[in-house]
Amino acid sequence: MPLFSPVDLQSTCPPSTEDLVLGDGGSGLALRSSGTSGRRKVLYHSWEFTERVAFLGARGVVSALGTIPRRMANFLYPAELNGAFSFAQDVTRLLDAMSFPMGSSALASPETPEVLRDHAVDTVICSPSAGLKLLTEDTAGALAAVRNFLYIGEILGESRERQLAEARPELRVRSLSYSTSETGPIGYQCAYQTGSTHHLHEDALVVEVIDTAAERIQPDGRVGEVVVTTLTDSGMPLLRYQVGDEGYIETGPCLCGSAARRLTLVGRVRQSVNVDSTTISQELVMDRLSVLGITDPADCQFQVRTHETGFSIRLLVSDRTPSGLTADDAVAALRGAYHMQRVFTAPSYRGLTVERVDSSRFHHTDRGKVPFFHEEHAG
Ligand SMILES: [Zn+2]
Repeated sequence: MPLFSPVDLQSTCPPSTEDLVLGDGGSGLALRSSGTSGRRKVLYHSWEFTERVAFLGARGVVSALGTIPRRMANFLYPAELNGAFSFAQDVTRLLDAMSFPMGSSALASPETPEVLRDHAVDTVICSPSAGLKLLTEDTAGALAAVRNFLYIGEILGESRERQLAEARPELRVRSLSYSTSETGPIGYQCAYQTGSTHHLHEDALVVEVIDTAAERIQPDGRVGEVVVTTLTDSGMPLLRYQVGDEGYIETGPCLCGSAARRLTLVGRVRQSVNVDSTTISQELVMDRLSVLGITDPADCQFQVRTHETGFSIRLLVSDRTPSGLTADDAVAALRGAYHMQRVFTAPSYRGLTVERVDSSRFHHTDRGKVPFFHEEHAG
């Protein structure tokens, strides 16, 4: 059976066609796939599917925390066909916990720590970047009652995980769910799993890790593209859907005793940017920056600014990276890659700057994600 790509989905999803929608499309939940640019992909999910999604999510939280949280504050982005906020609400309800629907905009409110303190909120649901900021900048101790941080939306990353462990050693940091708008929950964590490793919801979907170039399934431990087939009626069937992540599968026994296979995510598949007709990948940039001691993609953001007279590159590195990095150092390191050399010699190239800043000052999307590449068009 052929692979089904996000591009295939773009041309077969509503509103252009409802061919893939099961039932009459008269009721359900419309969600937009996130993390991609270009044409939007919209899914019409049935309410029945949405209930199953919540069940899988709640089951995952119980597995990850071992206990049921009592008071859960939801800081996810609540609009624009984004399903994560309502997913967290549904999970909270199924767990029979108290919900505090804060929304992502509450992250900027000075009142928020007080609200969490006054109501003894024990669990925060947040994107990795926003959660890191909220939980590590709590100098007044207003969030002392917070025991659990459940993140969703992107990989936490070693650097953020380490900072949380240093600032809040008692905090349990777990994935709320490895989930996509298209498929619903794919993976969940057990008490022994951290970072980007999840058990798979094997009773709800089939997950394969594929070497897409050779069109074959990767053996255990080998990185490939994550491909998902939903086993239940999702409102729209997805067979061998390329969710856009890369990872590897392990089948050996887990300390928790579960036989469910484990998937470790290593990143997004198509993290690349087109600079003056040259495609630059995240892998290429990180490979070159590693010689400067920058090894975690969460520690940098590669911004391309296009203006009337050409384009320039602004490389943001977090204050966790070695200090003293200059633009010349960065150019010298990046120049080692043929494609970057092409960028640096393009007639419209206008220079590269390096800024070492707190990662909260990286460009964030409305949904709280921190893309590796960011493009800006000025005037
Ligand atoms: Zn386990």
